Amino acid sequence: STPTIAWIGLGIMGSPMSENLLKAGYSVTGFTLEQDKLDRLAAAGGTAASSVAEAVRDADVVITMVPASPQVEAIAYGPDGILENARRGALLIDMSSITPQTSIDLAGAAAEKGIRVLDAPVSGGEAGAVEAVLSIMVGGEQADFDAAEPILRALGRTIVLCGPHGSGQTVKAANQLIVAVNIQACAEAVVFLEKSGVDLTAALDVLGGGLAGSTVLTRKKANFLDRDFTPGFRIDLHHKDMGIVTDAARAVGAALPVGAVVAQLVASLRAQGDGGLDHSALLRAVERLSGS
Ligand code: NAD
Repeated sequence: STPTIAWIGLGIMGSPMSENLLKAGYSVTGFTLEQDKLDRLAAAGGTAASSVAEAVRDADVVITMVPASPQVEAIAYGPDGILENARRGALLIDMSSITPQTSIDLAGAAAEKGIRVLDAPVSGGEAGAVEAVLSIMVGGEQADFDAAEPILRALGRTIVLCGPHGSGQTVKAANQLIVAVNIQACAEAVVFLEKSGVDLTAALDVLGGGLAGSTVLTRKKANFLDRDFTPGFRIDLHHKDMGIVTDAARAVGAALPVGAVVAQLVASLRAQGDGGLDHSALLRAVERLSGS
């Protein structure tokens, strides 16, 4: 029979993703901190719960999509958390982007309660969530991946088991490194082109068709052209992810010389009060450095 789903964390990503599960015929009970997001879930045909414990009590599958490791720990552990309140045999799919070690520790603690865990962070942004075309990078056991796959198919298009617990998060960390460096390169090109007096729309159109083309360039083009930094993906979250990839790379002795510089630029945007803007606001950092 169709598994019953609890969804914790109905933000920029969690809201459209949970709605895609409703459209696919799953029943979804959700909990999040903002009342308007709970109302939105109910309006889409889901059930709003008043706590994590209430949301997960009868669920076969619990999905979490919250900002970072501390929030995952807050909703997983403790008397009101998932591990104390979900059924034995339930499957917990954490889709948040967190440190690989947090995912490994969570899988260990959950196993003691008879709860299975997958780390399943995503890439594709808000648009990918809305359109259900996310890339989903999974860590955990093959049998649990097989059980989760029909659900993940309602959320994304490219769904890959990368290895044991934490592997999905390691791949997501690499994803965030590539995206940040790509945005930074685009931002430098935009400032260079504008200062050179070249028409930016024409330039970005032709660049998008060559080897410089990328999903980042296509998806962020309007942000660059309009200086529209409505998130999207917040600088605060990318700052968190640059910390994750920097720490993880350091632990295995991988050098990230360019990534380290971009991490500093992301941190500086945050320090200047731009943490709530979309990560395409790296353009602002380049403009400040260029005196624009
Ligand atoms: P968001 O801030 O919009 O949403 C987070 C949600 O978590 C909020 O609705 C909040 O109420 C909820 N939450 C936080 N603490 C909670 C708690 N204790 N109990 C219940 N709910 C709680 O964030 P987002 O942009 O949706 O990102 C979520 C995760 O997905 C992050 O790890 C982010 O890095 C990752 N991600 C985001 C994007 C993107 O483009 N926005 C893309 C890929 C991955």
